[in-house]
Amino acid sequence: MSRMNVVPPSPGPAAQNFLSRAHGLFINGQWVAPRSGKHFDVFDPGTGQKIATAAAGEAADIDAAVAAARTALTGPWAKFTAAERGKLLWKLADLVEQHAQELIELEILDNGQPLAIAQYVVRHVVPDFFRYYAGWPTKIEGATIPAAPQGRRPGDVLSFTLREPIGVVGAIIPWNAPLPMLMVKLAPALATGCTLVLKPAELTPLTALRMAQLCTEAGVPEGVVNVVTGFGETAGAALAAHPGVDKIAFTGSTEVGRLIVKAATGNLKKVSLELGGKSPVIVFADAALEQVIPGAARACFFLQGQNCMAGTRLYVHEKVHDRVVEGVAQIARTMQLGHGLDPASQFGPLISAEQRERVRGFVEAGKREGGELVCGGGAPTRPGYFFEPTVFARMRADMTPVKGEIFGPVLCVQSFDDSDLDRIAAEANNTIYGLSGSVWTRDIGLAMQMVRRIDSGQVSVNMHAALDPAIPFGGNKQSGWGREFGKEGLEPYLKTKAISVAW
Ligand code: NAP
Ligand code: MG
Repeated sequence: MSRMNVVPPSPGPAAQNFLSRAHGLFINGQWVAPRSGKHFDVFDPGTGQKIATAAAGEAADIDAAVAAARTALTGPWAKFTAAERGKLLWKLADLVEQHAQELIELEILDNGQPLAIAQYVVRHVVPDFFRYYAGWPTKIEGATIPAAPQGRRPGDVLSFTLREPIGVVGAIIPWNAPLPMLMVKLAPALATGCTLVLKPAELTPLTALRMAQLCTEAGVPEGVVNVVTGFGETAGAALAAHPGVDKIAFTGSTEVGRLIVKAATGNLKKVSLELGGKSPVIVFADAALEQVIPGAARACFFLQGQNCMAGTRLYVHEKVHDRVVEGVAQIARTMQLGHGLDPASQFGPLISAEQRERVRGFVEAGKREGGELVCGGGAPTRPGYFFEPTVFARMRADMTPVKGEIFGPVLCVQSFDDSDLDRIAAEANNTIYGLSGSVWTRDIGLAMQMVRRIDSGQVSVNMHAALDPAIPFGGNKQSGWGREFGKEGLEPYLKTKAISVAW
């Protein structure tokens, strides 16, 4: 593993100016102080240093934000045409591009991700996503239905459906990719005419606050988008349980997902969940290894493994096992570890000291249980919450690092030496999760047979984690409820009203 400069380059003046402000909560188009008067510190995981403070919103602030969102549902926002909602989303994409440098720096400082990733996200992923959803408002249509209720004859009755916004959406998101997580909630909410109360992760509140300002600049009416920073157990729990919220859109751990479902029972609000993963990467002997090796490394180590789709269970045919393991380990050993603002950095820190200890715990368990540690496994001595990309070979299904979602850069390799697809699929599906997965082979027939057997919301062939605004994304089993992205991603934000007119 290459070591890099410990002192990161400074962010530009726009980001510095933003960081130095005393941040409030964004409620009803205004910046307001939290009712409790409490704030919390925000840290740069690349240095461990405090970089900002944010307001600790609690139940009373959630009440105010939900009230604003409910009022806004029937205000000027309800009079926006579909085309106007589309234009607003397009404008938001333009504003993200105009403020890209600042957003890139804030995202890196808050979350730790390497510059190249933040640049790609802010300059491409986020604007493309808003523009994709900018095209949808004008295409959200109901249906006319050839029905004959109560013995009516055709021509005596017209039945049709309206697609209406579900109402006030509570969005709760994690820290691993703050801007994309915000984007996947905000875009469909605005496209469908909903209003939103967003609770970002306490570890990464910054870009959500900046985006709230950009929403105002784009012309989002007051109360339509509200951002309440704070903690999960207080602000998050109050939002999930709130009787004035019609729907919760949650992304985070399966454990907290269960709490959200319980909290939602009070008013039986609708719930969509994007939860954890433990995705398999299956490599057959005929696969193009020059693609498999970088592909498998990226599948696991992207965002330091803090990625719900991460391909953390690598199943390789015995014939090519050693070459694949050595190739991936070679990439892991030579990845440039460093602060995200350093352009040469390819691998950033984990989000927190606590997360690093969690990852270390899984690695120690893997060693104890007899896994073969091929590379990594430790934390370099430098400031920040860095942990080396780690590869374990000769793992078994019952080992702790193979079973649990580590959410860190730990790859577990297992091998197979037969062609029994049912058996290989049973291994791949031997998890409570079902988010993503990939199959690597030049034999398209084999690939398609395997794809059908994998129980997950997404499967890719000769690539891992194919993301695009138009491709539905979400989990089977305990990886979630519902889908985001694409046309399907609008569904959780809409309700259907069936209307019948007799004359
Ligand atoms: P987390 O602990 O579940 O937290 C997610 C969000 O929920 C945070 O905003 C958190 O607030 C809040 N929260 C915590 N307790 C709550 C409660 N009792 N009621 C309401 N909200 C509560 O997850 P994380 O550690 O931030 O993120 C990692 C997890 O997210 C992993 O499991 C990963 O797989 C999953 N994830 C899934 C996807 C997907 O699309 N499927 C994408 C990314 C990540 P605090 O920040 O204050 O804790
Ligand atoms: Mg932070």
